[in-house]
Amino acid sequence: MTKKTIHELDLDGRRVFIRVDFNVPIRDGVIGDDTRIRAALPTVKYALEHGAKIILGSHLGRPQGAVNPALSLRPVATRLAELLDRPVIFAEDATGDPVTRAMGQVGSGGVVLLENLRFHPGEEANDRVFAQALAAPADCYVNDAFGAAHRAHASTTGIVNHLHDAAAGLLMAAELRHLGTLLASPPRPFVAILGGAKISGKMEVIENLLGRIDALLIGGAMAYTFFKARGLPVGHSLVEPALVDTTRAIERDAAARGVRLELPSDHVVTDRLEAGAACETLDVDDPAIGDRLGADIGPATIARYAAAVADARTIVWNGPMGVFELDAFAPGTVAVAVAVAASKARSVVGGGDSVAAVARAGVADQITHISTGGGASLEFLGGRRLPGLEVLPDAAEGTC
Ligand code: ADP
Ligand code: MG
Repeated sequence: MTKKTIHELDLDGRRVFIRVDFNVPIRDGVIGDDTRIRAALPTVKYALEHGAKIILGSHLGRPQGAVNPALSLRPVATRLAELLDRPVIFAEDATGDPVTRAMGQVGSGGVVLLENLRFHPGEEANDRVFAQALAAPADCYVNDAFGAAHRAHASTTGIVNHLHDAAAGLLMAAELRHLGTLLASPPRPFVAILGGAKISGKMEVIENLLGRIDALLIGGAMAYTFFKARGLPVGHSLVEPALVDTTRAIERDAAARGVRLELPSDHVVTDRLEAGAACETLDVDDPAIGDRLGADIGPATIARYAAAVADARTIVWNGPMGVFELDAFAPGTVAVAVAVAASKARSVVGGGDSVAAVARAGVADQITHISTGGGASLEFLGGRRLPGLEVLPDAAEGTC
């Protein structure tokens, strides 16, 4: 995967449209977590240092093509100005006169942030006229929104028909480099840890990774569909009945490829998913689970998974090991986060909840790469082509 990057663009004195992912949690005008804004700073600063005048475009939430003041990006302009320590002019609309006026106000070396792109139905419809209007005030295009690269929208794909001078931003390039290595040339042993609520959203990832990894460690609710297929007692644990046969196929496929597929051997069961609920650790074949449900992996499983992780040279992790939002069921996920962080392996963590779990465990800075794009990283690891990447020109000499 060698895409042209912002390093290869001529930026001096030019107007650059940068598609960023500022889809941050905002409540009553207050930003809950500015990680995504910070993640875009290297690209924005790089463009500023190289003399560009910047137009930033992003979506926020799902306004479905209509103006919704609760989903305005205005609070982001304020936060961005603080982080950059320079003025950010907010354009009340993503196209037309408000943009022209904002561009007139910033002068050279300035930053304009456009209003939520999805206030226009043309954004998600990848409408040609809307894409053209987005492109109009710019000379070149940079896509730094990895989290939106799996969508073929006007600001991620259509715009490139009107701004041929295009490239990947620094965040996008880092995502490609780290995720691309997992698929292309991972140092071995390569261990994948998959958990979370459902197998259904992660089937492609499992299938695509099985051909590349040495071991697959399964945790979270996902394990219970495997247990069901093996005839183990699952009580009221979260099972996807439609996927019971699929887990048998996964087990066969893993065996055929020589991949060690590991499932929990013990778990923490409870009668309700609530703070303060009574819980007990049982072996997974213990019928004493009754009609309770499994909410975390147990200590024996933690020890086994930690050992597998310690031996790895490449690790990819998606999906928590239990209902980590509740303290009683967080130890499995936290222990795995600590083990991944302590390992010398190249480690990549993706998925909104997994990233939150790593942050909660306080080890985010010891992970090689934390992917910013939940859905996009899953599609990438599932072997899908991301439309927002496909449209970017290839590098002259591979730089990312
Ligand atoms: P990510 O966002 O990292 O991709 P997912 O969204 O797939 O992860 O899964 C995260 C959710 O899975 C969390 O809300 C967590 O509570 C839930 N979960 C994990 N283990 C269990 C379990 N044993 N039973 C029910 N839910 C679980
Ligand atoms: Mg999630």
